[in-house]
Order: sequence, then structure tokens, then C-alpha cells
Amino acid sequence: MHPINSLAITYLLFTLVSSGIIYGAFRKNLDNSAKYFLIAELFMAITSAIIFMQNHSPDWYRSETLAAGNFFSIGSEIAVLFSVQSLAKNVAIRRYIFSLFALLIYVFLIEVIRHYFGSKIIILIHNTVIASISISIFITCKFKSDTSLANNRFIKSFRFFEMGLIIFSVVRGIGYFANTVIVPRDNPSTFVIFMFTLYVTMSVFRYMSYIGLRITWVDPKNWSINPLNRDLAKAIEEKDHLLRGLIASNRVIGISALASSLAHQLSQPLTAISLQADRSRRELAKTSDNPVLMNSLDEISTQSGKLAELVKNLRQLFSSRNYEFHSFSLHKACHEILDIVEPTLQSKRITLTQRIDTDPLVHGDAIQIQQVLINVFNNAIDAISTAPEGLNGPREIVLSIGQNEQNAVLRIEDSGTGIDPSLLPSIFELYKTTKQGGLGVGLWLSKTIMERHHGSITAVNGSSGAVFEIQIPLAKAISE
Ligand code: ADP
Repeated sequence: MHPINSLAITYLLFTLVSSGIIYGAFRKNLDNSAKYFLIAELFMAITSAIIFMQNHSPDWYRSETLAAGNFFSIGSEIAVLFSVQSLAKNVAIRRYIFSLFALLIYVFLIEVIRHYFGSKIIILIHNTVIASISISIFITCKFKSDTSLANNRFIKSFRFFEMGLIIFSVVRGIGYFANTVIVPRDNPSTFVIFMFTLYVTMSVFRYMSYIGLRITWVDPKNWSINPLNRDLAKAIEEKDHLLRGLIASNRVIGISALASSLAHQLSQPLTAISLQADRSRRELAKTSDNPVLMNSLDEISTQSGKLAELVKNLRQLFSSRNYEFHSFSLHKACHEILDIVEPTLQSKRITLTQRIDTDPLVHGDAIQIQQVLINVFNNAIDAISTAPEGLNGPREIVLSIGQNEQNAVLRIEDSGTGIDPSLLPSIFELYKTTKQGGLGVGLWLSKTIMERHHGSITAVNGSSGAVFEIQIPLAKAISE
């Protein structure tokens, strides 16, 4: 094979592969800079193919193909220039099309000159033009880009290889005066092969620098274009959502603060009532035998004890605190929550059925798990309240507790509306809500809490409404 042809094939393959990488990374997000770069690579691939054909068959060595070679090689450099210019400020595609027209006239004139003055002078003119474009590219990279771009290490290497290409064009131009023709055809000398090998190597590294640049550099005006930034863009979008949600949940925080302070204020009188009831009972026992009074004092004592317990749970639930993992009885934790939700269940005429086969000792933060339970219960109550009367039989929530090898398994089934099928796959995502005034935070938070516990929460539609299953690691499974 002609020695220059192996270089032409290498270059052709490289341009195709590297443009594939750029296209694959950007796809629909191609900005003008990336588009120009793809054009540059495509034009360079065509130039390489023309050089290959010219060396492969003598028929290809004629004016039209020489003109085409010049057109595509210079067109490629102009595209690189527009590509780096577009990094700082978009250059409209019509300007490139206009320069291609000017280029057409130029290559036509070149062929006229070739006809009258021979090929040698063409090499000088051609390389002067290419060197000027390369100098413009170099200047754009060095002086016309903002600091974040100019400081990117890949643009520095891009500039370095651009400088190499300028030197290459200058050496080719000097060849005119030194009578050394450096062209990629005929019978090239070792020096010419060396020069072209250097040229291809520098160009390849220049393309690679561009890819590196586009992957690492973030355009502050258009940061989401960077393919590696997409996750970041998504995270920022989520953060914005979260902020909006937080503003909305301020209301909820206010209610929590109110509940917490109310609970605090209630606890003292409750303790006093309980103490006074005990004292009165003791005193009464000394002086009289009045079973009715005794019973009612007992009742006051029991009820205020229950109330104090409820208030204590509420306070814990609303207090801000860090995760505290320990072993606790799931049954007890559930009961504390049932005490809180029971008045709502009663007022909404919802029956609670408990199927509790076991009392597993689980490992986790009881308060956080209770928050999950409250979320699921509140949702079940909402779903039953909004379901048309009698839609799924009696208004009922069934709570079952069981266990498997590793986890305690808690199921909460309701006879409500059931989960909207379109929502089901994303029900645990943030801000998914079908309720008017809903936040769509509860289930997302529940999932986050369960993941921190190495447990899980899942949702399906059962025969008569939604079924939530919560799995919490057993204390014994953790200690093993
Ligand atoms: P919110 O209650 O603020 O909407 P959640 O994250 O708690 O936020 O719930 C998200 C959505 O999941 C609800 O809007 C509702 O559409 C659906 N959902 C949750 N629990 C149930 C349930 N038991 N039955 C039917 N749909 C439910």
C-alpha cells in the first residue's frame, strides 16, 4: 500500500470514531460548536478518502478531485474555527454556508492558477490559507474565550496541537522556497512521510482534546448541554422542586411546631391530674368506703395516664432529632400510632382490623418507623374518605404483622379508592400526588426512611384498595 494511504485510512477511521463519540454523547443536545466539529470531522474524513483514492488509482489524480480535496480540507478547518468560536458565542450556521460558497470560488481560482502556474505555487497559497485559519483558531482559544474556558486543560492541549498544525503548514510553505514539495502523493520521501505522520498525530490529538474539553468544560450559559452534567442538571432540578416543596411544607412545619408546643403544655397539667387523682384515691380510702367514687378516680387515673402517654408520643414524633437505632417491639410501636389515629378512624367510621400473629423485635429508629406508619395510615384514611360509599365493601383498614427470616412484615390494606394505576410505578417519587393541596412528600420520605433502615416499603393495588407492605430488619438478623 502507498505509505500515505495507511495514514489516510487511520485518519479516516479516527475521524469517524471520534465524531461517533461526540454524536453519541450529545445526541439531541448538539449545540452549534459540536455541530461544527462534526462537520469538521466529516470533511476531514472525505479529504482522507480523496487522498486515498488519488494514491490508489491514477484516474483520481485530476483537477476536480484536487479541487475537492482542497475544498474539504479548508472547509474542515473553517468548521473547527467556527466550532471554537461558538464555544464563546454562537456562530450562525448561515455564516458557515456563506463561507463555503466563498471557498468554492477559492478552489475554482486555485485550479485556474494551477493550470497556468503549476502545482507548486498552489501548495504555498493553500498552506498560507490553512495557516491563517489555524492562527485564528489559536487566537480564539487563547484570547477570545472566557477564563473558565481558557483555563480548561483540554483547551490548552488543543492550542498546543493547533500550534503544531501551524508549524506544519509553515514548513510546507517553506518547502516552496527550498524546492521541497511536501504533498501526500507521488513517491514521498522519508521526510514527507514523517511530516504527514506528525500532521495526522497532531490532528488526532487535537480532536481528542476537543472531546475532552466538551466533556469536562461546563458552559455557564448552557450547562445542561454537557452530557456528563445531565445527572447534575437533574439534581439541580430536584433541588428546585424540593425548595418549592419546602416552602409549601412550611405550613406543615408550623402545624408540627404548634402540636409540639401544645403537647409540651399539656404534659404538666396531665401529670398534675394524675397525681391528684392518686392522692384523692389514697385519702378517700382512709376515710370512707365509696366504690363509685373510687372507680371514677381510678378511671381518671387510667385515662390521664393514657393521655400522658399519647402526649409523650406526639412530642417525640414532632421533635427534631437524629436517627437513633436500637431494638424495639414493633407491636408496641404500632399501638402508640394506633392510639394517635384512632380518634380519626372513629370520626370517619373506619373499622380497624388487626391480624397480629407475632410481636417481632426489630432494629431501627422507632420514631422514624412510626412516622412511616402515620403516613401510610393517613393516606389509607384519605383514600377511604374519598372513595364513594360502599365502593369496596365496608370502610376498613386491616393491619397485619408477620415476619420472615430476616424481616418483620407489616401490611396495611385499605378499602379506599386504590392507587391510580398511572401513579403506581412512581408513587414513591418526590412530589407525586393526586390530592388537591397534597405535597407528595410523605411516601417519598417513607421510602427514604425505610432505605436507611435497610428495609423496604412497597405498594400494590389489592382486591379492595391499596396494600402497603413495610419490611423492617429483625433485631436478631442484625446481630447475627
Ligand atoms: P400526598 O399524601 O401529599 O399526596 P404521599 O406521598 O403521601 O403524598 O402520597 C402520594 C400519592 O400516592 C397520593 O396523592 C395518592 O394518590 C397515592 N396514595 C398513597 N396512599 C394511597 C392509598 N392508600 N390509596 C390510594 N392512593 C394512595
